Amino acid sequence: MAALARDRVVGVVGAGTMGIGIAQVAATAGHRVKLIDARAGAVDAAIAALGKSLDGLVTKGKMTQDKRDGILARLEPADAYVDFEVCDLVVEAIVEDMGIKRALLAELETVVGDSCVIGTNTSSLSISAMAKEMRAPGRLVGFHFFNPAPVMQLVEIVSGLATDPAAAQIAFDTAAAWGKAPVHATSTPGFVVNRCARPFYAEALRLIVERAADPATIDAVMRECGGFRMGPCELMDLIGHDVNFAVTNAVYDAYFKDPRYAPSALQAEMVAAGRLGRKSGRGFYDYAKGAKSPEPATEPAATLPKQAVFEGESDMFDALAERAKAGGLSVHRRPAGDRGTTILLDGVALRPTDGRTATQRAHDTGERELVLHDVALDYAAAARMAIAVADQARGEAASLATAFFQACGMKVSLIDDAPGLIVARTLAMLVNEALDAVQQGVVSAEGVDVAMTKGVNYPKGPFAWGRAVGLPNIRAILDNLARHYGEDRYRASSRLRRLVARET
Ligand code: NAD
Repeated sequence: MAALARDRVVGVVGAGTMGIGIAQVAATAGHRVKLIDARAGAVDAAIAALGKSLDGLVTKGKMTQDKRDGILARLEPADAYVDFEVCDLVVEAIVEDMGIKRALLAELETVVGDSCVIGTNTSSLSISAMAKEMRAPGRLVGFHFFNPAPVMQLVEIVSGLATDPAAAQIAFDTAAAWGKAPVHATSTPGFVVNRCARPFYAEALRLIVERAADPATIDAVMRECGGFRMGPCELMDLIGHDVNFAVTNAVYDAYFKDPRYAPSALQAEMVAAGRLGRKSGRGFYDYAKGAKSPEPATEPAATLPKQAVFEGESDMFDALAERAKAGGLSVHRRPAGDRGTTILLDGVALRPTDGRTATQRAHDTGERELVLHDVALDYAAAARMAIAVADQARGEAASLATAFFQACGMKVSLIDDAPGLIVARTLAMLVNEALDAVQQGVVSAEGVDVAMTKGVNYPKGPFAWGRAVGLPNIRAILDNLARHYGEDRYRASSRLRRLVARET
């Protein structure tokens, strides 16, 4: 362990949202923390506000008075940078501006000792570029906390071209000693989370633009079928469309307009209209007092099929068969035939999506009565399922598939026949992006799962999830999306192709 010893002093520059949070984390871990801000009164105000919020915890019995007093006693307002002379680690959390951050680093380097590690909490600036004019560029490490810093576990430890591995390790081990979940990353656009999360928003935007489903339905399916804590539309409303659009543009531009990261015209339109989300009172949803939340598209109760015949074996089938039986459906199991795993419902074939539209798949296989369903995080627990019906189907296909999932205890959202439905296409793109980041050495395979579960609360890391669904299935979904749209955006990553080739 190269973690900073508890008796070493930490410096924090900037007492805004992130700075005071980072100072709280370090003081909670037992360090004395020097805190400075360019704005007069900012440090005192931030410490006073923190004191109030800790008082609240004490009142609720969630923190002892001693602990609260200890944290506040260790926070020391600094008048000038010369006070930072004693620090072995300084973290800056000032305004996101390269010129201002470089000027601060130059000033800090005139004060701190040679062994002092400097961390920057930048969300988007290149660590390599920031270090360019430093006397000792090896000491600069991205120390990227997420908001709110005392709560969110992930810290991206970002190395630029000049970062000394020993400095990155000190930052990593110190974050771990502070109870955080650090992940090593290299300085590339969006680092890990802001890059690897792009498809979460991008696929939802695309589905809305293509009129496949509305925001409330997409959110409900992503939560209740995909297991995400928040749906992409409500999350974009929370982040702010201006902020999310800016991050999308930054990553897109930094990758020289790779179509995989292309922003949506809908984002631009919403920003231009001032529909920024919660903060402006209107985004995908209306936040005005008394405004009614739109309901997700949910099918009415449908009449059960006579029986459900499961052809093939899978964990998904075991879970669904169990639930269907419990729902009063007559369930039969038999080995898979030529057409692969299928649930037959009185002549209607129900299958998981492979990235083709149901209409395309019906065309390819000659089956008219075809319904596709989405990928669920956990088929034993999912509360909702999205389905899409082939244009060639007549009559009862939609209602039989609806009744089947209703018997399983799920709500059903019938969406337009979009390739890869909602969760599956998003998941395939998340897995693909994570594999690309690993291929490029941005982060390790284990690291990307830690980052996405601890930084943005995904219910499962993209690697673990990709493996659970099967990487050949992920590749098939991407290849079919690429074929459907004819766009480079859906190209399977080099790493995914290699892993699938090795497995199959
Ligand atoms: P903020 O505006 O809340 O706080 C910034 C503080 O820095 C202000 O108090 C300001 O007075 C002070 N400051 C500005 N220039 C200074 C200077 N030259 N010297 C000393 N103090 C100066 O901003 P924030 O949201 O806390 O963000 C700080 C950094 O953290 C940025 O780099 C941002 O990109 C990054 N970040 C923000 C978030 C977030 O969700 N807010 C999350 C992760 C990272």
